Amino acid sequence: MGHPSSLRSSDARRGDRLREPEEGTFRNALHDLLLYSPDRSTFAQRALSWATRLVGGVGAVIIDADGSILAAREMTPEQVEAVAAEVRAGSAAGRARTSNQQVTRLITSLHLQQGEGCMVVQAGPFTPAFGDDEILRLRQYANSISAGLDRVSLSARIASLEKAKTEFLNVASHELRGPMTVIKGYLTMLEVGSLGDLSAQSSSVVHLLIQKSDEVNWMVEQMVEAARLEEGRLALKKLPSDLVELTDLAIEGSSQLLSKHQLSVEKPSSAVEAEVDPERFQMVVRNLLSNAAKYSPNGTRIKVRVSGDGIGMVAVTDEGIGIAEEDQARLFTRFVRIETKATESVSGTGLGLWLSREIARMHDGDLTVESTPGRGSTFTLRVPLST
Ligand code: ADP
Repeated sequence: MGHPSSLRSSDARRGDRLREPEEGTFRNALHDLLLYSPDRSTFAQRALSWATRLVGGVGAVIIDADGSILAAREMTPEQVEAVAAEVRAGSAAGRARTSNQQVTRLITSLHLQQGEGCMVVQAGPFTPAFGDDEILRLRQYANSISAGLDRVSLSARIASLEKAKTEFLNVASHELRGPMTVIKGYLTMLEVGSLGDLSAQSSSVVHLLIQKSDEVNWMVEQMVEAARLEEGRLALKKLPSDLVELTDLAIEGSSQLLSKHQLSVEKPSSAVEAEVDPERFQMVVRNLLSNAAKYSPNGTRIKVRVSGDGIGMVAVTDEGIGIAEEDQARLFTRFVRIETKATESVSGTGLGLWLSREIARMHDGDLTVESTPGRGSTFTLRVPLST
């Protein structure tokens, strides 16, 4: 949209020159505004101080899409209400108001996701009237402000969704725990014959049901731990431990899961000593073993290697589907599961690797992956040795 230069007021032209050096500061301020404003009204309040500086106004107000006042600056409540009433009446949005041919108030639309809001800047008794340059500047600024306000809303919404997810994890996992304990208890009684003899067919069904309830229990356990971690309640109970022994225990605990694979274990003959939380360390190794089994065909090899050369290490290698390079960094994000034909029938929560890496890092260690699609993957857990 062009504005003939003859319409530019001399004040505006002088203003251009005066404001030139401020451009960089302005850009930085806008960036900070976007990054550090916790909510929409703080953002709007801060945005107004730049709006007045930008066009040389005095008072200013931002009216939200629902007609409420989001922020006001250097205006009496009566003035604010008068402007808001005018805007609500729909008489002024998007246009500059004039009195005696002079523009003393700029009104610019804010195209917000929730609807149309507006920003109003008022000239003071001693400031010059606004010209076309100011109108243009304020319009451009209004675009940034609209985008910023929407972004603050979006960030707040994402934060509240994240919180809801954690709360859901917390409630769901605790609610599932009780019934699952009862189910597993009765299934075990059925399996050992405490509730009477079972036919061979029933026995095999019960066996399968126990395996399935173990899978659910494992997912519930991950959900409980994930909720603890999110809420900052996951406190490690570190003890002097032997990583070889803990890895053996984790393998023992996963024997059902690993029964259809060929397992090989390579470990030193002496202990690998490290200060770790034994339960959490086993949980990480069990997660790696369970993934190795889930994401590789039955009958293939799963190799576990424990070592203590300078650093405590447990590496789990499978000959499974592998992970594409672009997906490898995403794996360690909460709830991320790689959706492919090969994984669609595999159950899981997408919490295991995220949780495992967080636990590794809480030990001042790490969890990393090397993988070739179609060939297999190696996940390596490292923790510092005892000093
Ligand atoms: P899940 O409960 O889905 O197994 P994880 O956080 O443990 O959650 O793993 C995240 C995703 O990483 C999995 O859904 C899977 O796509 C991929 N993944 C994990 N381990 C392996 C592996 N050993 N081989 C191939 N893909 C794997």
